[in-house]
Amino acid sequence: MALVSVGWVLAADVWDEELLAAYELAREQVLDVLRAQFPEFEWEMPFVERRVYVPLGALDPLPLLELGAEEKIYRRWDYAVVVVPNELNPRHRIFTIGIPSTALEVAVVSSARLGRGDALVERLGGLVLHMLGHLWGVEHTLEGPTRPADFPELLRIEPFPEEAREAIIRHLREVADARLEEQGPHRGWLTFYVRTFLTDPRGILEDVWNCAPWELPLYLGRLTAAAAVSTIFFLMTAEAWEIGAHLPFSLIAWGAVISVLMATGLLFFGQNLGQITREHGLREQVARTQLVLFGTILMGMLFLWVVIYLISLGVSYLMPQGVVTEWAGVPSPVHLPLTQYAAFMASVGVVAAALGGNLEEEEDIKAEVLFDEEA
Ligand SMILES: [Zn+2]
Repeated sequence: MALVSVGWVLAADVWDEELLAAYELAREQVLDVLRAQFPEFEWEMPFVERRVYVPLGALDPLPLLELGAEEKIYRRWDYAVVVVPNELNPRHRIFTIGIPSTALEVAVVSSARLGRGDALVERLGGLVLHMLGHLWGVEHTLEGPTRPADFPELLRIEPFPEEAREAIIRHLREVADARLEEQGPHRGWLTFYVRTFLTDPRGILEDVWNCAPWELPLYLGRLTAAAAVSTIFFLMTAEAWEIGAHLPFSLIAWGAVISVLMATGLLFFGQNLGQITREHGLREQVARTQLVLFGTILMGMLFLWVVIYLISLGVSYLMPQGVVTEWAGVPSPVHLPLTQYAAFMASVGVVAAALGGNLEEEEDIKAEVLFDEEA
């Protein structure tokens, strides 16, 4: 019988006896429900304490998810649920009580808005089941723990509805099989990533699209500033015009492709976006998340290239043609290769942007990609 282990991690330094007892009771009752509903699996739910945070004030969910992922890997669990009494900082909602991340196979839940005593046990257990439903690929349903968790007071420890039950069994079986396969001999990493992509190309591209890559320059203020500075510099410098106007077309075309790839690589590896867990070895879920992150940045850079191109082209038309003709060293304004020069500026601008992209905002990109929802 396949074993499914779901670890609970207490991440805050809680000494309130009543609260700890409620967490423990919720864990036992969730375990009972799962054992009763899924007897085809063996269930295990260890509870560990990582008293890293003070149980006061709101916490950022991303480091909590990463903490859960670390524990999960270190202890060889299949899933982890991180529990804190603190509020969680929301990104898009007014408040959030739980965030699942299928990519990491970890969820973080907050008991701050769930009340005390028996009510807390019931709601926390229900919330954890809701999170597990997401981690097991179940969409929201009308009934049971997988209905939208908009009202914390409606959360209850109860079995999953029948259609969700079947989907969960299928999912857990697939995961168990995939894990066996992963223990087999490793082929090269490139083969592994290509295979991961080919397993679900449409899904991966949809995930990239859902990350709204065109918003990337908006998150990354310094990146955009670097691109703007380089573009202005290149528009105002005679030597740059002279070089840009005399480069062969093929070089400019290749330069565009290479600059977008280079900028993507600089951001992806420079900001450690490939490192979403400290895990060694190749895991399909992790590889998939990395592909989505890489794809999102690639699309973002492509979009930035197009924006710089259009702006440069517009501004070049508005500049006094006589001056620019002299800078570029061409015989007359009709010989000005404006589109070519705009492409040249866009390529340089994209690379400058990537160099200007800074570390702090890596959290934003990661959070957008890793969070499934804010419940
Ligand atoms: Zn949900």
